[in-house]
This record gives sequence, structure tokens and C-alpha cells, in this order.
Amino acid sequence: MQTDTIAAICTPLGEGGVGVVRISGDKAFEIAKKVFKPKNNKDIEKMKGYTAAFGKVYDGEELLDDAVALVFRSPKSYTGENTVEISVHGGTHLIRRVLRAVTAAGARLAEGGEFTKRAFLNGKMSLTEAEAVMNLISAKNDRALNIATKNKEGALSQKIKKMTDKLLYLVSEISVFSDFPEDETLFLSEDNFLTSLKEISADLNTLIADYDKGKLIIDGINTVIAGSPNAGKSTLMNLLSKTKRSIVTSIAGTTRDVVEQTAKVGDYTLLLADTAGIHETNDEVEQIGIEQALNRLDTADLCLAVFDTSVPVTNDDKTLIERIKNKPTLLVLNKNDLNSTKEDYYERLNIPFVKISALTGEGENELVEQITNLLKLNELDPNAEMLISERQYQTVQRAKASVNEAIFSLESGVTLDAVGILIDDGLAALLELDGKRITTEVADEVFRNFCVGK
Ligand code: GDP
Repeated sequence: MQTDTIAAICTPLGEGGVGVVRISGDKAFEIAKKVFKPKNNKDIEKMKGYTAAFGKVYDGEELLDDAVALVFRSPKSYTGENTVEISVHGGTHLIRRVLRAVTAAGARLAEGGEFTKRAFLNGKMSLTEAEAVMNLISAKNDRALNIATKNKEGALSQKIKKMTDKLLYLVSEISVFSDFPEDETLFLSEDNFLTSLKEISADLNTLIADYDKGKLIIDGINTVIAGSPNAGKSTLMNLLSKTKRSIVTSIAGTTRDVVEQTAKVGDYTLLLADTAGIHETNDEVEQIGIEQALNRLDTADLCLAVFDTSVPVTNDDKTLIERIKNKPTLLVLNKNDLNSTKEDYYERLNIPFVKISALTGEGENELVEQITNLLKLNELDPNAEMLISERQYQTVQRAKASVNEAIFSLESGVTLDAVGILIDDGLAALLELDGKRITTEVADEVFRNFCVGK
């Protein structure tokens, strides 16, 4: 397939040791030759794959920098095409100049995700493996990295292939049966047929059930810290995020806006939002902050409701409990280091709680443990294949709906031809899931979210 030659900066822009411009396509060597002059007069076009040359990079006559050119020959490259990676010193202006020289020499600027899209189109990786590349780059914690690596290595692809193969077999059985309806020996028994479909449905269900938990690990857990003024919300935020982002004072009503911070807690990433103390007030600015806090509560994955257990329970505390008791909430019974006499009240509420001192850090490990239990993150099999994007999730939902309908139809005695159409639909969804049969629109949508240079 003839393609134009694309180029992009592949390293983050900023000052660093090395910056890389990648060129990929039929004319990669020809273009690289125009900007890069090897020291020992090597000819890039004649260099073997996986070899490097040291030299200098030019924009026309103007010398830009020393450089190393790394050569990959089709099909043994990331994209499957001829590729040259030119490494120079990592400076924002310098690397942009190198890219400009490369485009002046005939390359087109790559679009976001275009290298990976080419890798997919050239059969170097499946669609779910390509999607995993993005997660690999954006992984925020070890668990997310592990999920991305496994998918990149093809774990999900293999799982999809197993289900696809089973459905293909059923489709072929049905077509044989349609051609020779009188020859019953050719046909898989109805029981086996049902068993096969039910196994596929169960596998699809597991993927769907794990998706939400996986999303919490991959995207981070949207966490609201709520509570009355002075309960210790900002102190907790600072403890978890290991910063002094939130202002801590003994003056009630200090946090008026929502203060956001990312915290790595155990194996997870919490996207923390420290909110204004929720209480009755006539202060207009504070009221706006409280409104924001309540809105956040409604959409959060997790609420850490902080209470000062060294003071009596107030009506504001009770109102907050009413508001959060049916949400994924952990009661954080704070100021454990003081004479905390009011804990009993909270412990009787039948809501998960943890005793802590946000000031000293005592109880932090228990807090992490409780979050894991509450969100059932420990139920996630670390070796299981996982869906990692909304597209994958929606496509699996479609496959499941068709497979379940096929099961129902079979059990209701519907003709095999009709069941076959439903199985075909399920098969089409699974083939789309791993990019074996997709429209350009779907492919474009997948790669649109990638960064340029990947
Ligand atoms: P917020 O209004 O809920 O954000 O409360 P802050 O985090 O600003 O804390 C209010 C006051 O309580 C500050 O003086 C903190 O130092 C103090 N405080 C917070 N957590 C603890 C704790 O666990 N123990 C003790 N003794 N004091 C705490």
C-alpha cells in the first residue's frame, strides 16, 4: 500500500537530554538523507534495519545539531513502514527546527495517533493492543500500568479471539444445517449449542462487570472530601496528597472553592476534591462553595465524609450523613489523637468508617484498606483481561445483547436461521471490538484521542 510519509516530534516538548523526530513512510530514508549527514558518509538508504549512524542535522545549509539517526526497515518497525528516528539534544526550539527541516524535505506533519494507526492498519497490532498503547503512556499507577501492558501484549485480543472462534464455529454449523437440514449428524446438538453461547455470554459479563472497577484504577477515583468546617478536611487532603495544597487553619470556612489534588494512595490514584465545609450559613460566597460541594458529592465515585470526633455531633453533621448515606461513602472519624468521645454515634450508623488522625497520619493505612473494600477493588482479578475504553465497553454490551437474545431464542424454539442472524450480530460486534472488521469512522475515532507523535 502506498502511503505518504509522516513526521512528528515523539518526545515531550521541553528541555531534556534527548529529543526525537520520527519519520515514517515510503520516503522516510530519502527525506532523512536530505536533513541528516552521517559523519562517516554512510548512506541512510543503504543502512540495515536496527542500525544507527552518528552525524549532523541541517535545515538547508544551516547546521542545527549533532544527531543520531536510527533506521528501521519495513516491516520491522513500529508502524511496519520504513522509519527513521532522528535524536538531537532535547530543546523545544531545536526539536521544532528539526521537524521543520524534515517537513521542508517532503514529510507531512503526522496527526494525533497516526503512527499507531498505521501500525494497526499494517497488521502490527490489533485494535485493542493499539488502544493499550495510549493507556500505557497515561498510566497513573502500577495497577493501571499492569492492565495496559497486558492488553498491549494481547491478553484482551486473545480473549476476544477465543469468543470469536466459538461464534464462527456455531455460524458454520448453522450454515451446514441450512444446506443439509435432513442430515442431523452434521449438526452440533442444541445443548452444546446453548452451552457454547452461555459460556460466551458469561465471559462477556465478566468483562462488563470488571469495567467500572478497572476504570477507577485507570482514570483515578473521583473523591470528594466533605464535612463540617474544621472537621479536618484540608488536613486530610494534605496528608493524602503529601502536599500543603489546602490551607489549614482553625478558622472555620477557610476553604470556599473546590481545591483539587491528585494523590497516589496505595495502588490507586485518588482525584481529590477538598470542598467547602457543609453547614448553614448566610455568607453568600460560602453558600456558593457549599453548593459546589454538594454537586460534587452527587457525581463522585467516593465520598470521604470527615467528622471531628472530639466535638459533639451537630445538625450539619446529621444533614451531611443523610445526604451521603446511600452513596459510596467512608466516614472518616478524625482527630483520633484527641479525646474522641463521639465515635460511638458514627459507628452505629451502619456506614463503613475508619478512625484516623489526619494531623499525625495515624490510621492512613486502614483508610486505604477501607477504600479498597468499599469500591470492591480487591475483587478485581489482577490477571483478568480488562476492557479499557468506553468504545470497548459499548461494543461488548452489543455483543452480549445479541448473544443473550440468541440464547433466549434458542430456548424458545425459534428457528435456527433466525438464531443465526443474532449470532452474526454478536460476531460482528466482536470483530469490530478488535478491529478485524471496522469502518474508517470507528478507526478514526479510536486514534483521534492519541497525542501527536504516538
Ligand atoms: P477543614 O475546615 O475541615 O478543612 O479543617 P482543617 O483541615 O483546616 O483543620 C481544622 C483544624 O483542625 C486545624 O487547626 C487542624 O490543625 C486541626 N486538625 C485537623 N485534623 C486534626 C487531627 O487529626 N487532630 C488534631 N488534633 N487536630 C486536627
